[in-house]
Amino acid sequence: MGATTDWVITHDATQGDMAYAMECLRCGDIQRVPVPIQMPLWLAMAEAFTKLHSKCQARERKSQ
Ligand SMILES: [Zn+2]
Repeated sequence: MGATTDWVITHDATQGDMAYAMECLRCGDIQRVPVPIQMPLWLAMAEAFTKLHSKCQARERKSQ
């Protein structure tokens, strides 16, 4: 696999207001998604969101 961005997560459909929302665990940014959303649109948003946060630095430095 390529670069991992496992700090960028997506919520599933069971999260109510947060359904399909994307979240960056590093900066805490959350991108909510209007549902229903067409999957290709969501995938494009998820890809863009991940790209945006791929360089995010963790606020709290923890040894990895
Ligand atoms: Zn971020």
